Amino acid sequence: MSGTRNDMDVYKLHQSDIGFQTISKEEFEAGTHKNPPWYPETESGSPQEQSPYAVCPGCDNPIQIIGLYKLPKGVTRPYARHANHSVPGLADLDVERRACCCPYYQPRPHHPASRRARLDGVARKILTTLIEQFDRVVYLLEKDTGVRFSRQHLRKMLTTYRYWQGYLYTGATLTNVPWIFAYMSNAQSLFNQRVDADSDLGKAILAGVPDANIDARGHIVNRVHADGHTRFFQLSVCFIHHTQAMDADQGLIETMKMRVFSDTGLGLEKAPVLFEKVIAFDPAYFQNLIGLPADRAKRRPDLVAVARDVLGDLCDEA
Ligand SMILES: [Zn+2]
Repeated sequence: MSGTRNDMDVYKLHQSDIGFQTISKEEFEAGTHKNPPWYPETESGSPQEQSPYAVCPGCDNPIQIIGLYKLPKGVTRPYARHANHSVPGLADLDVERRACCCPYYQPRPHHPASRRARLDGVARKILTTLIEQFDRVVYLLEKDTGVRFSRQHLRKMLTTYRYWQGYLYTGATLTNVPWIFAYMSNAQSLFNQRVDADSDLGKAILAGVPDANIDARGHIVNRVHADGHTRFFQLSVCFIHHTQAMDADQGLIETMKMRVFSDTGLGLEKAPVLFEKVIAFDPAYFQNLIGLPADRAKRRPDLVAVARDVLGDLCDEA
C-alpha cells in the first residue's frame, strides 16, 4: 500500500509535457538535476527538501513526491499527491482543475454527462493532443477494437465528440485521450468498416446479422441472398462504462467496454449484443508512440488533417 487511495505513482516535469513517467528516484534526479523549481530552495531542515515537486499529468497542477528519500511509516514506495499551493516556476495551483482531476485527485465514477466548466488549459491540451496525434489515436483504437475505420467514419466520430464536448468530460485527462475520444463518440454504424472475417468480432457479425456479409477486403457489406436481393441491416459499435480505479500494485487502471449490437427494430433495449470486449487503456503505449523519433514514426498526415478540420477552430477560441 502507498498511503491513501488518492495517491498516484506518476508525474511529469513540465506543464508543457504531454506524457508522464512512473516515479523512480533515478529518473527523477536525472531529469531535474535536483534543481529548482522541482527542488525549491528552502531553509535547511525544512521537510520540503525531502519531498520535491513535479506536475500532475492529469491536471497540470503542482504535485509533491512523497517518500523519494525517506519512506513514511507503512509505505513501501514513493508516491505523489496534489500540493495545496502553487510552486513558483513550476505550476500554479488551480483548485477547479484539481477538483476535476479524476482519478488522481478524487477517484469517483464519472457521469457521462459531467463536464468541466470551461475550456481550460487542460481541455485545450486534450484537444490539441487529439488533433496532432490523431493518427496514433486511430492506430490504438484499431488495435483495441479489431475494426479498421474509414476516414468518413472517423469524421463522424470526431463530429459527435465535438457535439458532446468530449474534451470537457470530467473523466478526460491528458493521458487517456485516445480512449475517451472513442468513449465520447457515442454509437456509430459499422457499415462498410473493415474487420477480419476470421476474428471473434467478424464471426459474431456473420453469425448474428444474417443480412450482413464481409467482403474479400474485409468491408462489412450487404449480403446478397439466394434470390439476388439485399436487405437493410443495422450494426453499430459503442463504447460504454468508462471506469477508473486505483490499484495498490498497478496504479491507475482505466477501462471501457466496446459493444457491437444490431437493432432489429425491436428497440435499442432489446437490440441483441453481438460482441462485447473490455478495453484496458494503455497510456504508456500512447506515450511511446508520441515519443517515437521522426525517422521511425509512420505518421498519417491525412488523418491528422481530418481531426484538424473538425476540431481545429475550437483551439483558437479564447
Ligand atoms: Zn491532478
